[in-house]
Amino acid sequence: MPELPEMENYRLLLSEKITGRVITGVHINREKSINVSILLFCDKVMNQTVARIERRAKHLLFHLQNGRVLLLHLMLGGWIYFGREEDKPERTIKVQLCFGDHHLYFIGLRLGYLHLYDGDSARQQLSDLGPEPLNGDFTLDMFLKMTAGKRGRLKMKLVDQQFISGIGNCYSDEICFHAKVLPTRDMNDLAQPEITQLYHSIRFILQQAIKHGGYMENPVYKGDSITGGSDALCKVYDREGEKCSRCGAVIIKEIVSSRKVFYCGSCQK
Ligand SMILES: [Zn+2]
Repeated sequence: MPELPEMENYRLLLSEKITGRVITGVHINREKSINVSILLFCDKVMNQTVARIERRAKHLLFHLQNGRVLLLHLMLGGWIYFGREEDKPERTIKVQLCFGDHHLYFIGLRLGYLHLYDGDSARQQLSDLGPEPLNGDFTLDMFLKMTAGKRGRLKMKLVDQQFISGIGNCYSDEICFHAKVLPTRDMNDLAQPEITQLYHSIRFILQQAIKHGGYMENPVYKGDSITGGSDALCKVYDREGEKCSRCGAVIIKEIVSSRKVFYCGSCQK
């Protein structure tokens, strides 16, 4: 599932392509992907300019000139492609927004959605989310306070969207590897230097992944050489049985509360 870096990559690339452009057509092939009638959706979205694209956690918010917001969550298996009709991927398109002869295709929205809200209701939908780990106000001091006395496995806390937003299965494992702590440990057992290192690892790993285009491999547009570059940087995620790049031990996969967890049992403590 796309996480914060993948969605931020989408935001950066799509902003260049569609900010300031008018939506000239709307096609809904899967009514379950939207939250209002097709008629109402088209009425509010057609002929609107995309004013800006915002990201919050794993969501993108397409702000339209009329104050409406399209709230996107890709969930598992969802992705986005922008381009001409003849270049579009051979996949089922769930929703399509047209910008003249270019189109924004939403693909594989099995559980994902593109919901229409006014600005206030969009914010309300996201009000339960925890802090954005890359925002300036997410300080070490704040993280130390957030984690103080908190129980629960580190892995589960990192992917808990109400605790901290935007981190999922992949980057939680990569953050723990970078911080040299085991994701299976209880948060309450972590010493302050380990929490401090975790804070820095959260920031480093997410920023590095954004810089390299996230780990999702499907290109966002024809000739996109940015998206997917950070897959090669993953040290433990989905690398069960491979050798640890730091110490040479074998990467382990374990299931914790029905989530896959990858780690090195030798150099992560
Ligand atoms: Zn190791």
